Amino acid sequence: MTDDTVTLEIAAPDDWHVHLRDDEMLSAVTPYTANVFRHAVVMPNITPPVTSTQAAAAYRARVLSAAGPDARHDFTPMMVLYLNEQIVVDDLLAGAADGVVFGAKYYPAGATTNSAAGGNDLLAFRPVLEAMAGAGIPLLVHAESTDPSLDIFDREADFIEKQLLPVVEQIPELRVTVEHISTRAGLDIVKDHPQVGGSITPHHLTCDRSDLLANGMRPHLYCKPVINSREERMAIAEAATSGNPSFFFGTDSAPHPLSKKEAEKVAAGIFNAPYALEVVAELFFELGCLDRLEGFVSHHGADHYGVERSPAKIRLTRRADTEIDPPEAMFTADGTEVRIFGADAARRWAWEAVS
Ligand SMILES: [Zn+2]
Repeated sequence: MTDDTVTLEIAAPDDWHVHLRDDEMLSAVTPYTANVFRHAVVMPNITPPVTSTQAAAAYRARVLSAAGPDARHDFTPMMVLYLNEQIVVDDLLAGAADGVVFGAKYYPAGATTNSAAGGNDLLAFRPVLEAMAGAGIPLLVHAESTDPSLDIFDREADFIEKQLLPVVEQIPELRVTVEHISTRAGLDIVKDHPQVGGSITPHHLTCDRSDLLANGMRPHLYCKPVINSREERMAIAEAATSGNPSFFFGTDSAPHPLSKKEAEKVAAGIFNAPYALEVVAELFFELGCLDRLEGFVSHHGADHYGVERSPAKIRLTRRADTEIDPPEAMFTADGTEVRIFGADAARRWAWEAVS
């Protein structure tokens, strides 16, 4: 048997977009993130949404207590406020100055899980956005139109053209992240504006809508924005592996109970935190660009946000055989099952902290 094991060391990765939920789900999923990622930007769409510094500090404490005994020593949840009418600018600025609040997240109302409290017009938040720009607080955006007359696969482009571009052009000092890019429209606004970065998920990198729909509908691949065409996926993979520092890793890991994923009306979200790094490593391996993995998962996001790159390292190993059988489901303490994305890649890859 030939030994074609591959090993590489990279700076500890960051997850710039993750949903950790609350209560028993929080306790069950947070260790997967805390074990491998240094920073985790924790989304605020819990119930009720996180709209104040006080709520962010309390949620951060719950995340840290859920991180578990095997969490990285430098695991740092970075808290985000949910941008809506309840946000008080002075509270946001004070929270950021105190290091409690990392950024603010905009959800179009109704676009995805727990987004009912979101907005209908991003520019209506202009005073908040200008204050954020002045204080160096980034805006994170779920860029998806909720216009019911629009085809679901065209909604990212529509939101970017009508709502995000005006903000980017009228408030150029504001640092912006287009989250979970799913189309070339998302890639293009990032490429065209140095202050705009883009997070990319493991599933938008490796799946297209034929995977979702062609061979029996697969509800576990349903997320928002919906996984798009093969052409869009190829463009996203090209951007992520290009070395362009404006693109970085955000898992958008979003756990739902099995009962919500296998239902008449399926909840949007994919739980990928356990194998997210393995999925991306396998893609970079297949495309022959493992030398660019560290930039994408460990450096570019830190640079975009003006955060120090991780001095700590992890070692990734790709096995020649695929004999191990990683679990494809996780259970919360009360027995709720959650399916895990990416087991195929986890058969190949393992990682360990080296510093
Ligand atoms: Zn998300």
